[in-house]
Amino acid sequence: MAMDWHPIFQSNITEYAGEDNWQLLFDDSIEENQQGAGWEQYIRRTCARFGCSLCRRIWPSNIVMVIFHMHLDNYTHQGTVKARVYRQKCKRCTEAQMEQPRNMEAHHIDALMENLVKNIRKKCYNEVFEEVYRDPAGVDVENPHEPQHCEGCIAGVCRQVAPQHPGGRGFRGMPRGRGNRRL
Ligand SMILES: [Zn+2]
Ligand SMILES: [Zn+2]
Repeated sequence: MAMDWHPIFQSNITEYAGEDNWQLLFDDSIEENQQGAGWEQYIRRTCARFGCSLCRRIWPSNIVMVIFHMHLDNYTHQGTVKARVYRQKCKRCTEAQMEQPRNMEAHHIDALMENLVKNIRKKCYNEVFEEVYRDPAGVDVENPHEPQHCEGCIAGVCRQVAPQHPGGRGFRGMPRGRGNRRL
């Protein structure tokens, strides 16, 4: 993936991890609510740009869902975060494949990693503090979210956060054909 989350994750977690060692792994096989015993789950929406490998079209999205599964082994002091970014595909190309985000703005990665570490502190270290998550302004989007072209929608993950996202018009499925209209 073109976006490097690792150094930002490490610089956020180090302060709180004590002698624990954390690693962040991308794993496209993880599924919502299938984290298994001893693992915690955190789901967060972020913003990114996608690109079609067939027609080179680029589209920004403010509904990019990320699932994290986290586990801390208190004996080995090894912490593991598995991350899955739900992919999107081009709506113009009939043969389009699901694409990973091509890039993310630095402040969106910063906020995502900061929020992840807050969640780890709560769930893996049982810290108690008021939950104020960073939610930076999104990117400018030209079209509504396209449920048929979004892995998160297909998996049912996008819906949980739909009311929060900016510019939500048209999210719950506009009649086909009108969805291409510029809003
Ligand atoms: Zn395309
Ligand atoms: Zn979606």
